Amino acid sequence: MQFSSERERTLARALGLCTRCGDPLPEACAFRWCEKCRAVQRPASHAFVTRRRKNRRQAGLCIRCGEPSDGRIRCRPCADEFNAYQNERNRRIREGTWRD
Ligand SMILES: [Zn+2]
Ligand SMILES: [Zn+2]
Repeated sequence: MQFSSERERTLARALGLCTRCGDPLPEACAFRWCEKCRAVQRPASHAFVTRRRKNRRQAGLCIRCGEPSDGRIRCRPCADEFNAYQNERNRRIREGTWRD
């Protein structure tokens, strides 16, 4: 199944279907696309993020938000956020509740 209009995609989303191929999504899935479609899409967006990060890194900017970061990988707010994320992630990995 293919959805050509935004209205159809909204409907598919409401029905719990992948808005790309129409496959049913797992219950309470946070994504618009099924596993299969996301797997297809991931390499492209990953390459984009990696390239953008590299450019920012070379320009001496925060890799996340692009603000001047004082020669660091991330600016202060982003570093704090990243650390909080890492802590939460580590905690949940220990508990076995982490879903990447
Ligand atoms: Zn799909
Ligand atoms: Zn930042």
